[in-house]
Amino acid sequence: MDFLDHSLDDSHRAIRDSARRFARQSIAPHVEEWEEAELFPCELYQAAAAAGVLAVGFPEEVGGGGGGMLHMMMIIEGLLEGGSSGVVAGLGSLGIALPAIVQAGDRAQIDQFVRPTLLGERIAALAVTEAGTGSDVAGIRTRARRDGGDYLIDGDKMFITSGARADFVTVLARTGEEHGKHHNLSFFVVERGMPGFSVSRSLRKTGWRASDTAALSFEGVRVPAANRIGEEGGAFLTLMRNFATERLMLAAFGHATARIALADARSWAEERHAFGKKLSAMPVIRHKLASMATRVTAATTLNYAVAGCIDAGESCVSEVAMAKNLSAETAVSVCYDAVQILGGMGYMRETRVERLSRDARLLPIGGGTTEIMNEIIIKMGT
Ligand SMILES: Cc1cc2nc3c(=O)[nH]c(=O)nc-3n(C[C@H](O)[C@H](O)[C@H](O)COP(=O)(O)OP(=O)(O)OC[C@H]3O[C@@H](n4cnc5c(N)ncnc54)[C@H](O)[C@@H]3O)c2cc1C
Repeated sequence: MDFLDHSLDDSHRAIRDSARRFARQSIAPHVEEWEEAELFPCELYQAAAAAGVLAVGFPEEVGGGGGGMLHMMMIIEGLLEGGSSGVVAGLGSLGIALPAIVQAGDRAQIDQFVRPTLLGERIAALAVTEAGTGSDVAGIRTRARRDGGDYLIDGDKMFITSGARADFVTVLARTGEEHGKHHNLSFFVVERGMPGFSVSRSLRKTGWRASDTAALSFEGVRVPAANRIGEEGGAFLTLMRNFATERLMLAAFGHATARIALADARSWAEERHAFGKKLSAMPVIRHKLASMATRVTAATTLNYAVAGCIDAGESCVSEVAMAKNLSAETAVSVCYDAVQILGGMGYMRETRVERLSRDARLLPIGGGTTEIMNEIIIKMGT
């Protein structure tokens, strides 16, 4: 058995196999086309749900497939074998949009928003970041003011995955007067078609190209109080709890991306000859491959350990931040080395490592930057 697989049981391996099968059949053959179009078809959500790979990690009581963090990591590993982080990020936007509703929402909200999304019938996005603030979450300016039985929402959101195609968006807004205060933050579900809610523009990116990323605008959007999730002013704790899942999943993007880049570099080094011998026979290349493999193993081992610890009921705040940083750094550096081993071909759009190297660059930024993760690690006293 693979060394890394010792942390897994049959249920983890079975889920990863399902995700792999789905990725090979339904993603890989179309990746070039979707990356070029900077979009994948919406039908893929339902196909992913039918294959049992969309709802993993959500409780069965709300229509989910059950399982924990390590099962969710297996989904990411399997789906990334389709060759596009953008597709996996787009399919996965429900993974950041729904948890607030699952944890703090009422039965009606779960029936209206969570269940159909887990079936692939609706598309969900999470809108926290704004053009003026990302890392400093409490500094958001989008505001929700009470108006009778409704709220009026005004503001803008930036970099929202699945933002242009979402049927609804879980929006973080300020509900108190004081700016920069954690207890003034609330979540609302804003639905497509609500007057005043619009997509300002679709954003073009370095990587994750097949995913839809959008800037959103809210101008006096009237949202019924029934669309507020949980208590007014109670969003911050939910948000922080869910950041852990998002960050650990991005860590999984990191180790899985690096693992694929390593495999491609290794195959290339076996095939390619220079100065009368295989690249894989040259000490410099061999040592580079050994170092890449070591980094991949270290990042994956930490990710599995942290996921297992959370599944056992621990919060692991500091370790999640460490896992995200190590995996992001591993993905960027291993992809860099993979491009170097492929030489000129590594810089061509027709090779997978070219795309992986662009996709990897998002990982030290998205879901909380490396610098913010380091602040968490230090603050937690580790
Ligand atoms: C492709 C993509 C998809 C995304 N999807 C979503 C989504 O679906 N929903 C959503 O809400 N957001 C999304 N984001 C936003 C993402 O989470 C933010 O970009 C990220 O949190 C960083 O925020 P920022 O871009 O505003 O950078 P800033 O917060 O402006 O940071 C800029 C730089 O300053 C540094 N910095 C900031 N504060 C400190 C500090 N205290 N100490 C040291 N350094 C600091 C940062 O580390 C960074 O290097 C997405 C972003 C991208 C690029």
